[in-house]
Amino acid sequence: MIRSVGHISAMSPYALAQLEAPEGKPLISLSQNESLRPPSPLAIEAAAEAMKAGHLYPDPDWSELRAALSGLHGIPAEGILCGCGSMELISCLTQAFADEQNTVLAPAYAYPFFRTAAQLARARYDTAPEQDRCASVDALLAAVRDDTRIVFVANPGNPTGTRIPRAELVRLREGLPGDILLVIDEAYGEFADHLGEPMFDLVGCGDTVVLRTFSKAYGLAGMRIGWGLFPPEIAREVRKVMNPNNITTAGQAAATAALVDQAYMRETCRETAALRDEFRGRLVKAGLDVPESFTNFILIRMKSAEEAHRADVALRAEGVFLRPQGGVGLADCLRATIGASERLDLTASLLEHWMNGGKT
Ligand SMILES: *Cc1c(COP(=O)(O)O)cnc(C)c1O
Repeated sequence: MIRSVGHISAMSPYALAQLEAPEGKPLISLSQNESLRPPSPLAIEAAAEAMKAGHLYPDPDWSELRAALSGLHGIPAEGILCGCGSMELISCLTQAFADEQNTVLAPAYAYPFFRTAAQLARARYDTAPEQDRCASVDALLAAVRDDTRIVFVANPGNPTGTRIPRAELVRLREGLPGDILLVIDEAYGEFADHLGEPMFDLVGCGDTVVLRTFSKAYGLAGMRIGWGLFPPEIAREVRKVMNPNNITTAGQAAATAALVDQAYMRETCRETAALRDEFRGRLVKAGLDVPESFTNFILIRMKSAEEAHRADVALRAEGVFLRPQGGVGLADCLRATIGASERLDLTASLLEHWMNGGKT
């Protein structure tokens, strides 16, 4: 018998969406927070062109992509690391800065990959209560232990969709000891950028990392490109853990071109927000509890876990796949990604019917 090492055999496989359409129905997946729109035509063209150099290893320093990110966000290129999705950065950061002597802390309903990353690093994983499905700075500060080494906060959060203002994150940073790394995961940052609260300046103090991704607003989830701004000493350690040839040549070219097409990305955010707010309005009117979202999804709370499960089964029978949230402790909730308007219409009608006792 060949066994994996202890902390790996104790882990469950990472739970991705389960998508099997019922016979004869098209699959309507609103389960993975993928973009409403395909990538910018400029990104598609750049990726195709980059394939001509597909026999060569990619640029290990992501030079053009970093220069473009630096110019767009007004941040130093040297502090930028690019990952095979921001998941790679989350995982490598945790491996580099926490081990079995340490605790990793996050809000109660945090992005589940934070826990996975802690498990891979053999670290303890702690959560702090949230308030109204929103991260609570007071609760996070109260949960800090002597061995806490990393605090993860996704802002806006996934699966909650809620966000805390910049002043709260600053208060969190100021309340944390200087030997605790604060990681602010802004995977949905572009959907909240119009609020004008960038966090990159906190990185300058040497104890904070800000992560972003091309998977959501830029519509490049399939290309696997994440990035972050790191203090130089943190970046140096994280790079030791990363795959040195992580992002494909086509991926780097697509991301760089997508940055040039800001108008396209902003239009995606605008369309998504308009559909989201209309969809949410319909569900709230039908009597569902849905917090205001700053992302490309909404969190729908049903009366009970049992009710959420039965509604999910009924929706799946019609080919509509939302994402159950039992895994993050919100078994009474379903998360719905904002998709094309006809998909949202169908989903809203099915949920309205359900709320009317029609049981679809
Ligand atoms: C989607 C998501 C990520 C991962 O994004 P990739 O860049 O595709 O790896 C990270 N954090 C949060 C909160 C997310 O929702």
